[in-house]
Amino acid sequence: MAAARGRLSGYDTPAMTDQVVSLATPYRTHTCGQLRASDAGSTAKLSGWVHRRRDHGPLIFLDLRDRHGITQVVIDKADAPVAHDQASRVRPEFVVSVSGTVSPRLPATENTKLPTGAIELQATDLEILSDAKTPPFYINDPDAPVDELVRLKYRYLDIRREPMQRRLMLRSRMVQAIREVHHANGFVEIETPTLIKSTPEGARDFIVPSRLQPGTVYALPQSPQQLKQLLMIAGMDRYMQIARCYRDEDLRGDRQPEFTQLDLEMSFVDEAAVMAFVEAMTIEVSKATVPERPILQEPFPIFTYDEVLERFGSDKPDLRFGMELVDLGSVLVTSDGTPASGFAVFDSTLAAGGRVKAIVAPGMAGVTRREIDELTERARRLGAKGLAYLALEQGGEIKGPIAKFLDDDTKRAMIERCAADEGDLILIVADTAAVVADVLGRLRVELGDRLGLADPEVLAYVWIHRFPMYQWDAELERWHATHNPFSGVLPEDEALLVTASGEADRPSPDDPAGRARALQYDLALNGWELGGGSIRIHRRALLEQSLQLQGHSLDGMQEKFGAVLDAFEYGAPPHGGIALGIDRWVALLAQQTNIREVMAFPKTQSGSDPMLEAPSVPEPGQYDELGLRFVGSSKPETDKD
Ligand code: ASP
Repeated sequence: MAAARGRLSGYDTPAMTDQVVSLATPYRTHTCGQLRASDAGSTAKLSGWVHRRRDHGPLIFLDLRDRHGITQVVIDKADAPVAHDQASRVRPEFVVSVSGTVSPRLPATENTKLPTGAIELQATDLEILSDAKTPPFYINDPDAPVDELVRLKYRYLDIRREPMQRRLMLRSRMVQAIREVHHANGFVEIETPTLIKSTPEGARDFIVPSRLQPGTVYALPQSPQQLKQLLMIAGMDRYMQIARCYRDEDLRGDRQPEFTQLDLEMSFVDEAAVMAFVEAMTIEVSKATVPERPILQEPFPIFTYDEVLERFGSDKPDLRFGMELVDLGSVLVTSDGTPASGFAVFDSTLAAGGRVKAIVAPGMAGVTRREIDELTERARRLGAKGLAYLALEQGGEIKGPIAKFLDDDTKRAMIERCAADEGDLILIVADTAAVVADVLGRLRVELGDRLGLADPEVLAYVWIHRFPMYQWDAELERWHATHNPFSGVLPEDEALLVTASGEADRPSPDDPAGRARALQYDLALNGWELGGGSIRIHRRALLEQSLQLQGHSLDGMQEKFGAVLDAFEYGAPPHGGIALGIDRWVALLAQQTNIREVMAFPKTQSGSDPMLEAPSVPEPGQYDELGLRFVGSSKPETDKD
């Protein structure tokens, strides 16, 4: 890795000096980012796109651009009349090739912002290789606002612009670093197929009809989960893949129907071993990709699921700022535990076993009535019945509609418990534990953002583990895996993988299984889930037991997961792994909030590609070949992102 880090720094492209084959071709001797003052006096030939053209009559200036940089070209009518004639015809985005002499620029005309800014190419010849229509947006202005649909329709022009170039190069460098660390650590890179049978990760499958076996379909993998486990049983020990995955779900800013995962699996490991490798790899990759960005804490902090929910109200906490959730329960009850705050909502919530918790928004005591109404409305939309608050004004006065219900001691105790200062605003939610965590957790993130509490440069990686194995699905009246149907269980919780009735097909929300904790670990970064993994169950009987709790009959599970279950009977090593979302990871390293910004050709919110116009209606013959007939749809298409 050290070598890679030295070679690839910041947003630079890889050095083009240690190539096996010389860059020089009949079109160019150098790239547009290569020539320096030390080249002055030599001849050179460059090819690229016309970034800008300035016509000063007898002198025409062209800024010539390629992926590597921009070089100024001067065409002097007196020296090169034919080239000058050609140059007067070129327009932005024409592709031209220019030969000439490298000349130092006059001191006052040097451009210190460009690495090539000390020189210019004095043209002797200019050839137009390709004309260009006026593009639908300015390629040479990275800040020009352009509608995203237009950007996606003309993605090849959008990618010509500097921001997309930088992001795709950052992505390439990151993937290179990922591969280097894995190969240096004994991982074998193996491609798994994408025409497979469903390997569920909780989303809908994309399916591909089979022509050779009419009436049957392949599923595109939601992940290579089963295949990588089978590779462990096959003895490959350490596997990795930059894997394309497909999930047919409604799209959001951090979701796409197809996306890329760093998928890995290791044999003869426990949770600590996988986490140790992934953490070291993550640090190496971050440093190779964005060496200038500090990592908040190494080793990464590790929280249990219960602890992060309690303290941050989220299982992917943003640790770049505090504003932790504060439990007010203990200061709202009498010494024998009776709720007695004087404010009925708090008292009845606590009496019913609910929670009263708060966050402190620093310096926000002066909020206007309207801002408070907006926050309250937001809390309601997130599921709370309301939002109470105490504003600690400068001078010590405590304001807020609930203040009159609470006696002075209670108010003081609440403020002390929150460690709030004058000028702060205490926001309080009283509800069930889940609602309180969710609402305050989201308000925490939104206010942290609004108050600028999170340093955008900092990378705050954090592990979360000890998730519950299962969640109760009230609609289907069964348990389902919180993460992965193959997750292992903490050894001390193995006995809990049963129903209260003792019969696997009669689950209830009170089953001991609901208390079992999984050998599951997630990695989060700056408030986003980067990915997760687990130590897997590797014994058939235990997996069958776990799958039964998830509502699978023995026949059903054989049909769905038969390959893995059968393989477990031929010697399965203990194994575990993880998958990290590459798109999300690059987006975070590139300081983007939308993964489309780091994907070359992403889909819109409605899952379409406006450039290729996909998806599209199949040829009539294709229906016939596949034995399919379209019977219509009631779902309208929208393309509003
Ligand atoms: N297959 C899981 C996922 O895609 C990751 C894993 O458990 O390795 O989320």
